[in-house]
Amino acid sequence: SNEPISHFIRNRIDADQDKGTYGGKVTTRFPPEPNGYLHFGHAKSIFLNFGLARDYDGICHLRFDDTNPVKEEQAYVDAIREDIDWLGFRDPTHEHFASDYFETLYQGAVALVKAGLAYVDSQSADEMRANRGTLTEPGTNSPYRERAIDENLDLFTRMRAGEFPDGEHILRAKIDMASPNLNMRDPAIYRIRHAHHHRTGDDWPIYPMYDYAHCVSDAIEGVTHSLCTLEFEDHRPLYDWFIDKLADLGFFERPLPQQIEFSRLNLTYMPLSKRKLIQLVEGGHVDGWDDPRMPTLKGARRRGFTPAGFKLFTDRIGVSKSDSLIDFGVLEDCMRETLNESAERRIGVLDPLKLVLVNFPEEHEETCYAPNHPQKPDWGKREVKLTRELWIERGDFALDPPKKYFRLKPDGEVRLRYGFIIKHVGHDVDEDGNVTCVYAEYDPDTKSGTPGADARKVKGNIHWLSARDAVETEIRQYDRLFNVPAPGARREGDEPDVERDFLDDINPDSIHTLTAYIEAGAANAEPESIYQFERHGYFVADQKEHAPGQRPVFNRAVTLRDSWGQ
Ligand code: ATP
Ligand code: MG
Ligand code: MG
Repeated sequence: SNEPISHFIRNRIDADQDKGTYGGKVTTRFPPEPNGYLHFGHAKSIFLNFGLARDYDGICHLRFDDTNPVKEEQAYVDAIREDIDWLGFRDPTHEHFASDYFETLYQGAVALVKAGLAYVDSQSADEMRANRGTLTEPGTNSPYRERAIDENLDLFTRMRAGEFPDGEHILRAKIDMASPNLNMRDPAIYRIRHAHHHRTGDDWPIYPMYDYAHCVSDAIEGVTHSLCTLEFEDHRPLYDWFIDKLADLGFFERPLPQQIEFSRLNLTYMPLSKRKLIQLVEGGHVDGWDDPRMPTLKGARRRGFTPAGFKLFTDRIGVSKSDSLIDFGVLEDCMRETLNESAERRIGVLDPLKLVLVNFPEEHEETCYAPNHPQKPDWGKREVKLTRELWIERGDFALDPPKKYFRLKPDGEVRLRYGFIIKHVGHDVDEDGNVTCVYAEYDPDTKSGTPGADARKVKGNIHWLSARDAVETEIRQYDRLFNVPAPGARREGDEPDVERDFLDDINPDSIHTLTAYIEAGAANAEPESIYQFERHGYFVADQKEHAPGQRPVFNRAVTLRDSWGQ
């Protein structure tokens, strides 16, 4: 059904709607830092924030959180836009950059200074750290804490004018050095940083800290519900402090945005942290950010994962406050289920073995009809030509079959799917005992779809392609990038001093490249076309390397069934 799945954030919004807290408005935001590519974790946040806005007829702002000048780049901005677009949520009218608010943020800080709520500290970084205290020990007031407002204002203005080197002064909120919450111990608001910014250039020698910039940006945009991951729970009092003080000073109208935390997505076999993903790319362990094995949205797209699959996944895992580790197989199941709905069927022979129909005339061809989707007759059928020489799957012929083997075996019979019943009459074997060719007779009276064709029943049903028409294709099959569910985690029996590196848990054999045959129709498809190759799984024409009609390259998204570990 299309009924949205209820969770505690919806309940909070519903309560605000009932009370009329925000006059019926719902405004959320998705605030990526443009310092890397979006990953599967971000997909959860995107569906949550944009999804809620959609469901409540509200707005979700895409805000590039670009307050940290050195790590951010335009290329990441572009990539993030593309990914959000791909997931179906691009809305250029509600796109912002935190750097657009630099002047307002600065004016807010000046107002806090004037109100005696912020001061310029001139301790060294080491002194500041030492005076911060610990979880059990209160901090110590800075000797600069009681500076006169005029002196603070003068120093802060000169910080902004670029008169001081990095680290000489810092602007801090005057809250409480004895607070049990370390975040409330006079947190930094602005630091000096003579660095070039990708959008504001050299305009600013000072940059706002995350905790200040974030809540103020939310308030500027009229965000009602600011959703973030649980590690920010302890920052919430500070979030409220800044915007509450600025509202008192006339900067914002109440009601103010409220921060609500939810648990981040963690997946087995997949680290979801930009820091680790960077190591995978820079260490050459993968073939770039969009390697189909990467848990980035760019990688997912090349892998043949779909927005619909991510949507189902985020619905299925839900939203809660308890940390959980989701099995990667759950994501694959969601891809499988949605691709089953959306992908047309084609035939691919991944491990080809030649089959010759000895009683099929050389120049003859039979037109067979294969449904594009077995449950969707309105998607139609396509023609598949049967000829004397075919490719079948090596695994569909066994010289020495196990019990209950219903595919082709010596003297056995099988149906060529959408075609005829055939009977084995011989085969060639090379000196190593490998079968190189199978010979069979077909029964012209058993063509699928013709009256009486079903009169003779056989148990096995195998797929095939005409050797004349099939197109040679590169197929890439992926396994998990890591060998263990929690890469880098200590294992039972580890010596106490053992430290593991997640890179040591990389699966060295996570990509298998095959030369296969597929239907010409699929080989000629545009990049990013996704098909089910019958009996194998879902495959996507590679976004970058597939050249229709010239060089077909398909990546396997998922198998038909969860076969991992079998
Ligand atoms: P990383 O930890 O990988 O560096 P980040 O949180 O620093 O990610 P941002 O670009 O700041 O990356 O994230 C943008 C938004 O996406 C934030 O609101 C953040 O809460 C959310 N987000 C990031 N990772 C996850 C995750 N694993 N699960 C859910 N939401 C996430
Ligand atoms: Mg962040
Ligand atoms: Mg981070």
